[in-house]
Amino acid sequence: MPPDGFKCKQCGHCCLNLNAFATCASEDDVRRWEAAGRDDILAWVVPVALGNVVFAYDIWMDPETGEDIDRCPWLKKLPGTERYVCGIDDVKPDTCRDYPVSREHAERTGCPGFA
Ligand code: SF4
Ligand code: SF4
Repeated sequence: MPPDGFKCKQCGHCCLNLNAFATCASEDDVRRWEAAGRDDILAWVVPVALGNVVFAYDIWMDPETGEDIDRCPWLKKLPGTERYVCGIDDVKPDTCRDYPVSREHAERTGCPGFA
């Protein structure tokens, strides 16, 4: 959970600019998606391995091009507003659930949640 004093403004900045962030899923995220049969989510996840050992899971990687994308595929704009919501909020990765981890992190990455 983000720290006290934070309130998400639903501006979408963090989810529209994924390349500005270190975006990796955790082992727990991947296990959760597998258990839930969320192949649609897993299609956007690429394991990163050293030899046979997976040490990270890159997200969100375009399944067709294999490239990093700027805008998260799960981001939804609320009709008639400038506000955004996460389309997989109930199962979103830990890195999103915990963002930002501090006021400094928010300021450094352009999140206005402490303003
Ligand atoms: S940048 Fe900050 S305020 Fe804007 S949507 Fe992301 S978490 Fe919320
Ligand atoms: S999964 Fe949700 S919270 Fe995470 S980047 Fe995508 S839209 Fe944003």
